[in-house]
Amino acid sequence: MSDPLPKTDRPTREEAEAAVRTMLRWAGEDPDREGLHDTPARVTRAYEEFFQGYEIDPKTLLERTFSEVEGYDEIVLLRDIRFESHCEHHLAPIIGRAHVAYLPRQRVVGISKLARVVDAYARRMQIQERLTAQIANTINDVLQPHGTAVIIESSHECMTTRGVHRPGVSMVTSQMLGTFRTNSDTRRELMAMLNRPAASEY
Ligand SMILES: [Zn+2]
Repeated sequence: MSDPLPKTDRPTREEAEAAVRTMLRWAGEDPDREGLHDTPARVTRAYEEFFQGYEIDPKTLLERTFSEVEGYDEIVLLRDIRFESHCEHHLAPIIGRAHVAYLPRQRVVGISKLARVVDAYARRMQIQERLTAQIANTINDVLQPHGTAVIIESSHECMTTRGVHRPGVSMVTSQMLGTFRTNSDTRRELMAMLNRPAASEY
């Protein structure tokens, strides 16, 4: 995916609010009605929040690593990372959970940083396949571990509230790199870790 547009190439806040007013009128509403008066400003601010990821360079989140790990070289797995994204086809929410694992090569990273990488890509206009690959590739490129695995399960509101109207459907994608891709024992070990009860259930 190309880099985010520079700020100087983007429309102004006023232009964005005017575009929302157009959509309100297009749907059949009167944007000057009292209840809708602040809606263009609110929608624009909501967009800032939904699409915050364009302001973050995910690679910088992983720059600080720790090497005093006493030779720890087994799987590190952060699972059930809840995320909110939006599909790039309908701008409808995608809500799901990501599981992120890597096999460290001498260095580990703070686990909250893995969740931040998920958010940095989720808070963009996405398709789930690319979201999965971007998270995996970034971790793999920056940490250069023996392997990286990202599994995402999510529900796409564009499928539940429009189009085929199929609630309860979840989409699962996975990207396996390095040892997770080449070694089926390592992959099996990861799956066994994923199937254990969550810590909150202990
Ligand atoms: Zn969609």
